Amino acid sequence: MRIAQIHAHVLEARLSEPFGWSFNATDTRGSCLVEVVAEDGVTGWGECYGPARLNAPVVRAMASELIGKDPLATDALWLQLYNKFRDSGQKGLVVNAISGIDIALWDLKGRHFETPVHVLMGGPLRREVRAYATGTYRLRNGDPLDYIVREVRGYVSEGFSAVKLKIGFGVKEDEKLIRAVREAIGPDTGLMLDANHGFDALEAIELGRRVAPLDIGWFEEPVVPDDLGSYIEVRRGQPIPVAGGECEFTRWGFRDVLTRRAMDIIQPDTGGAGGLSECKKIADMATAFGVRYVPHVWGCGVGLAAALQLLAVLPHSPPRHTPLEPMLEFDRSEHPFRQAVLTTPLEHRRGVVAIPDGPGLGIEIDRAAIERFSVAV
Ligand code: CA
Repeated sequence: MRIAQIHAHVLEARLSEPFGWSFNATDTRGSCLVEVVAEDGVTGWGECYGPARLNAPVVRAMASELIGKDPLATDALWLQLYNKFRDSGQKGLVVNAISGIDIALWDLKGRHFETPVHVLMGGPLRREVRAYATGTYRLRNGDPLDYIVREVRGYVSEGFSAVKLKIGFGVKEDEKLIRAVREAIGPDTGLMLDANHGFDALEAIELGRRVAPLDIGWFEEPVVPDDLGSYIEVRRGQPIPVAGGECEFTRWGFRDVLTRRAMDIIQPDTGGAGGLSECKKIADMATAFGVRYVPHVWGCGVGLAAALQLLAVLPHSPPRHTPLEPMLEFDRSEHPFRQAVLTTPLEHRRGVVAIPDGPGLGIEIDRAAIERFSVAV
């Protein structure tokens, strides 16, 4: 079996209303989908995390390394790509591209063997996951104390048992909103905070101390990702568990996070940190360090399906009769093609998502939707 073609599709869609977070805003959702076609016609799909218009040229540039190779040799191809581009690509776009390709290769492998990816990866350890709602982005108009409180109430009434709140707009303003949200969702719904690295260590420590009594599940990306020293200070300086890692890459990047004990919970993006092959390795490393793993998920349905396959094989740590289960990040913000690219949407039922058990990633791609949202790049 040999790889015949590799395509990078850039999909984009304008939002009905732009939304923002601590340091940026967008009026468009975009994705780079990777399609790997074998000589016998079997096809696999993957998705890269990161800026789609930059992901696609890197994927295309890597294609010539892979044409004619055995698509089932996922680890061998991963190492081939990483070793080839390592000197200028240990983080960022190069690893994003390898990730999307790796996910597509796993999907193809699953389709070849007519087996779900999570079975080929040695699972499943679970068949469904509890999802938490990600949303609460900032709109151009209106009072966040009003529209975000309404939004989180909606998630609770949909059945989500935990929600994540976007912060990073200033300690005092954030504290007010966190208190309002905790009051709105009541004491029994999980509440996590995500600052999108909008603070320095001193601000993050101050905010963490102020809101810790409100039972906060984790404090995500309190500080910039390339400053592990500040992460360590935030961990030591305030009581909320510190999460991060959506901007970290590969076993080597997470080696430093883990050995320096910079985070309580790591959140590699499956389409960014190295794909399914690498994220399983990172997850096993995290287990050995006693650090929790909750995948970051921000893509369309392809990335979501990859995260679900990985979630099916994340090890329990520690094992016990009712072990801690990993959660799925379920993005609820507007995304015109998140589900449209799939023939069957990946939906939650009262905050729980079933892990697809069809071949490969367990999804079918709607080619008409791919064409509808594709842009020439
Ligand atoms: Ca985040």
